[in-house]
Amino acid sequence: MSRDIFQRRIQRVRERLREEGIDAFLVAVPENRYYLSGFEADDLLLTESSGYLLIMEQASYLLTDSRYEEEAKAEAPDFNVVIYRNGFPEALAGLGADLAVRRLAVEGHYLTVKLHGDIEKALRESRPDAEIVSLTDVVEKLRVVKEPEEIERIRASLALTEKVLLAVWEGLKPGKRERDVAWEIERRIREGGGEAVSFPPIVASGANAALPHAVPTDRMIGEGELVIFDLGSRLHHCCSDMTRTWASGEPDHKLREIYSIVREAQVAAQAVVRAGEDTAAVDAVARDFIRDAGYGDYFGHGLGHGLGLAVHEPPGLRKTKGTVLEENMVVTVEPGIYLPGFGGVRLENMVRVTQTGCEVLNGVDLMYRWTR
Ligand code: ZN
Ligand code: ZN
Repeated sequence: MSRDIFQRRIQRVRERLREEGIDAFLVAVPENRYYLSGFEADDLLLTESSGYLLIMEQASYLLTDSRYEEEAKAEAPDFNVVIYRNGFPEALAGLGADLAVRRLAVEGHYLTVKLHGDIEKALRESRPDAEIVSLTDVVEKLRVVKEPEEIERIRASLALTEKVLLAVWEGLKPGKRERDVAWEIERRIREGGGEAVSFPPIVASGANAALPHAVPTDRMIGEGELVIFDLGSRLHHCCSDMTRTWASGEPDHKLREIYSIVREAQVAAQAVVRAGEDTAAVDAVARDFIRDAGYGDYFGHGLGHGLGLAVHEPPGLRKTKGTVLEENMVVTVEPGIYLPGFGGVRLENMVRVTQTGCEVLNGVDLMYRWTR
């Protein structure tokens, strides 16, 4: 990404801070840190961050530890890189007069209570009357609408995922274990250039397909079963996420029935996605369709979610708390029917919201891949 993208994003953050009367903003969420700085390191754990951004009107800092010094300077040239030797709070306090701000905003949805306390202490050393406020949506609000460069990256990530699924399907037959197929997906994503899987792949066959978040088991795929594949890669920091349901041999009447209902619900929901539409209304289209077909009790989860730097991010497409869709949001449309002890179907596409509708980002040739 070119540097001006990051600079533009920081300017938008500064506008928001001015509106809120905030003097400095501390960024802890890893995706937000990358989004604003280009610093690529991941966090190993919530409690083992690879660094924090401090954004003020006149200056921006990237505070990180010595392991990341070289990368930080190379990847985030717009930031003053501060290396902490004795932990982040001490380095923060070490900024001294530079940190003498009255109102500091933190990402309250991500900080531990302990770190919040440490930050407060560091801040008060510089300015005793300083106060900390929590802002939970500063960067998230920007991330929700994708820029052209991000959309290209998302397309590339999805293209890799589709290529992997097609390759896995080439060799797929009854008798393979779910767990082995899931590993093949992971391996192919990495070999295809993905930095990681965007989440552990789901391969759920037969009755396991009735579990929306099934974990692959040693179960062997049987004849005439439906198998749910839910997978995604992370490429250039952008996530993809798609689901297809595959049949091993001829599935019975009921499985065919729920498959067509799910597919029709998906098509109906995609048809109403457009800028200006409410996400809860889109969810309702698929949900009502499945209910009217007699399976309302068997579709429990939300219809979809946004994705980008994170595999699950706003906006959620669900029954409640609707938000208005905007052009260039990228969301999934993933209805399902899950019949306990019997089987299940989920189909998940990624779509880009446009002024007049949506663009399905998935390749059409992956629709309805039935038996081979
Ligand atoms: Zn998925
Ligand atoms: Zn999803």
